[in-house]
Amino acid sequence: MTAASPTDGSPTRFRRWRAWYQVGKDATTNLLFPPRCTSCDGECSSRPDQPLWCAACERELQASKLPTCPRCAAPCPASQAASGPCPNCRGLKLLYSEARTLGLYDGAIRQAVLKIKHAHYEPLAGGLGQQLARCIQDRPFAEPPEFVVPVPMFWLQRLLRGNNAAETLALSLARVLRLPIATDLLVCRRWLKKQSTLKSDERRRNVRHAFRVSWRYGIRNARILLVDDVLTTGATAHDAARALRHAGAASVYVAAVARSTHEP
Ligand SMILES: [Zn+2]
Ligand SMILES: [Zn+2]
Repeated sequence: MTAASPTDGSPTRFRRWRAWYQVGKDATTNLLFPPRCTSCDGECSSRPDQPLWCAACERELQASKLPTCPRCAAPCPASQAASGPCPNCRGLKLLYSEARTLGLYDGAIRQAVLKIKHAHYEPLAGGLGQQLARCIQDRPFAEPPEFVVPVPMFWLQRLLRGNNAAETLALSLARVLRLPIATDLLVCRRWLKKQSTLKSDERRRNVRHAFRVSWRYGIRNARILLVDDVLTTGATAHDAARALRHAGAASVYVAAVARSTHEP
């Protein structure tokens, strides 16, 4: 079924008219309401398909160029950055194959991660998701993931928080990578304590068997890209990957905004 053109029946002329209308509308909106940086709220100019950031935030939120381990995303000598594992993850049993982050949980990236935990900063999370997608395009995984899954929150925590940063990141990342996303594929079974307040062994206990795959999905032999805001010991990603692998996923890759190397 073809939609009728509202002008003279010429779809090309209609498209041209609509494009000009959009340009005029955008210019008027920008004049009346200048775009603001989604991170610092400073004035900035918008560019199509780019995060809405001012020049200073753009510089600070770029993906780090430092060599990192492809498996655990920790900084490592350049010689190990090609194949891993690095000294940090050698001998560690991880149920995800590879991980990518924008950089260390420090400075502007740390501030951005703290902000996106609040619903008000969802546009910033969208921009970080775009950056993360480009980071993956620059440094692809061994095999291309087939769909994207955010690390879920327990339903009551999600309700009280008003947003799940991992989900906003995943939606934006999936759009850039042109991958399907399943936001309700993984389910968090219980209320989880904040991982950032726990020591390494407590983190593992906190998330152990905390996730399950929804019975509505069949993921046998699928390659899945799991998205979270921070990767520290990898305990959350490891346990989410356990649920996915248990349900038949062939491989799990991880993308997170920041890699933390600090523990309380
Ligand atoms: Zn800014
Ligand atoms: Zn490593």
